[in-house]
Amino acid sequence: MKGQTALITGGGRGIGEAAARALARAGARVFIASRTRSELERVAAETGAEFAVCDVTLPSDVEALARRVGPVQVLVNNAGVAESAPLARMDLEFWRKVMDTNLTSAFLLARSVVPAMVAARYGRIVNVASIAGKRGGAYISAYAASKHGLLGLTSSLAMELAGHGVLVNAVCPGYVDTPMTRRNVERIAQATGKPPDQVLRSFLDSMGQSRLLEPEVVAKAILELAAPECAHTGAAIDLL
Ligand code: NDP
Repeated sequence: MKGQTALITGGGRGIGEAAARALARAGARVFIASRTRSELERVAAETGAEFAVCDVTLPSDVEALARRVGPVQVLVNNAGVAESAPLARMDLEFWRKVMDTNLTSAFLLARSVVPAMVAARYGRIVNVASIAGKRGGAYISAYAASKHGLLGLTSSLAMELAGHGVLVNAVCPGYVDTPMTRRNVERIAQATGKPPDQVLRSFLDSMGQSRLLEPEVVAKAILELAAPECAHTGAAIDLL
């Protein structure tokens, strides 16, 4: 990946952090962006990545980020939130936050970086979707809708950009050992009074997973889809 610039949203922790480490190890110039400066500083210090504080739900932040980073060969749309609620307790603000973070951000980022990719006749976009992008579940209607939408964006852009050297793919992990999953286990444990390990077991059983995935497993798949030798476009690869 030498000579290539990779922009990773949500690179301050979890899957994005693991992807930043993998791409930096592969020789790319890595640029990470999220809202929490202290996390970006830590990952940057440990990997040599550059960083910018950016809220990917704000078009002005995304445009400023794209201007600052310049042309990129790799875009990893990873920033996301995984809040859950029953329909009756979901207001429009909740719905919009999930959509803006998980789906609209990927549109905004792609719109900012694709023109330079097309001009260079080279680019790789990797969208971090989820198994919830292929099947829904109780209480995750907003999250599952956003990830289904992200897969629709992926396959449509893959077709649109197929003749321009730009490949667009997605990864669809089950449950991964990240701060997001740990927070969700804690939240459900508190809400239901069940012990956290029982809550985690029920998460894993719902996916048919025997254990949590390590973020590095997802990062490896992201790296493969970001590499020059990638031969897929429009793929949505399940990781369980
Ligand atoms: P974490 O919560 O651990 O990390 C999420 C990252 O996204 C953080 O860096 C966070 O930074 C960033 N982010 C969230 N909102 C914004 C925003 N508005 N602007 C900029 N950055 C933002 O989650 P994971 O690493 O687990 O998740 C990463 C991706 O993987 C998500 O898209 C998630 O849906 C997906 N995924 C996760 C799975 C899991 O089991 N963990 C399973 C399948 C998919 P900050 O809050 O500082 O802005």
